[in-house]
Amino acid sequence: MPQNPRHRTLAERDMNTEPNPQLLRSHTFTALRPGRRLIVLGAVHGNEVCGTRAIERVLAELDGGAIAISSGSVTFVPVTNALAYQRKQRVGERNLNRNLRPTAAPADHEDRIANVLCPLLAQHDVLLDLHSFHAPGAPFAMVGPADNTGALEPFAHAAQEESLALRLGPRRLVEGWLDTYAVGVKNRLQRGDPSERAHMLSTDPSYGIGTTEYMRSVGGCAITLECGQHEEPQAVEVAYRAIRNTLAHLQLVDDPPPPPPPCAEPELLRLCEVTDRHHADDHFARVWASYDRVRGGELVGTRHDGTPVRAPADGFIVFPNAKALPGNEWFYFAQPSTRPLRADGAGPSLVR
Ligand SMILES: [Zn+2]
Repeated sequence: MPQNPRHRTLAERDMNTEPNPQLLRSHTFTALRPGRRLIVLGAVHGNEVCGTRAIERVLAELDGGAIAISSGSVTFVPVTNALAYQRKQRVGERNLNRNLRPTAAPADHEDRIANVLCPLLAQHDVLLDLHSFHAPGAPFAMVGPADNTGALEPFAHAAQEESLALRLGPRRLVEGWLDTYAVGVKNRLQRGDPSERAHMLSTDPSYGIGTTEYMRSVGGCAITLECGQHEEPQAVEVAYRAIRNTLAHLQLVDDPPPPPPPCAEPELLRLCEVTDRHHADDHFARVWASYDRVRGGELVGTRHDGTPVRAPADGFIVFPNAKALPGNEWFYFAQPSTRPLRADGAGPSLVR
């Protein structure tokens, strides 16, 4: 039915408009009462649209008055990489969620996005980054490191991050992203043509720095929520519920804060190892899903030359991507983490 454009809400117009790759479009709602500053990203990877759809739904509810921001502020970026989104693929010219940082001499589209996205992130206290994944599986959240003063990813807000992660909805949590990358980068340095830009980027010590790592580096806290398989309709509901729970937990809305989950429920895995796909004929031994258990020595896949790739110990496969481009992450190996999770971190209240 034709509709008078004047009567469409902002969010409905968003849904009908192809994003312009030359813009980073954001929507900010700032209450007159001070509070925490939240930013929610969708489609950092262009083929991961559950966050975009969930953000559109929340924007419509904010427009229609079903949700009211009563303190602090929230910024929504429905489509973070519009070029990738337009192409319906993970990346535009490269992966926006790696080597993310401002640069004086941008070399590609994602460098140019970073130059506006990074300052935007730095204006906020908390980031919720909404993604989906390739293989079927249950949703999970990725948290940063425990508090530490190390050189790789120093951090002081782990309790706040944990308490939010425990309230998003999904019960599966993963840690250990950046230090696993540091090892992966060392392995990559042994391979490939270092003159090629893709290789240069993937062997840069900052390769593992994406949106959440950048957010932590500027004093905020951040969670990546993997909402489900790319095509899974339920992933939109997971993303939507996570946004609503975050708004309530951070007390940006007057809804009752979501209760912490029962103690034994969350399942925290620690990423230990990343294995790259080297060749287009490298193939998995079976169809893997995230959180599939493996036994030490079990065959995970076979290289194109017949070399077996085996699990280093008892553990879990995470982020398997049977179609990973050669030179990119094929799968991660994880083990149960012994890190205690604190549900009572009183939401971040960061003074920066
Ligand atoms: Zn993603």
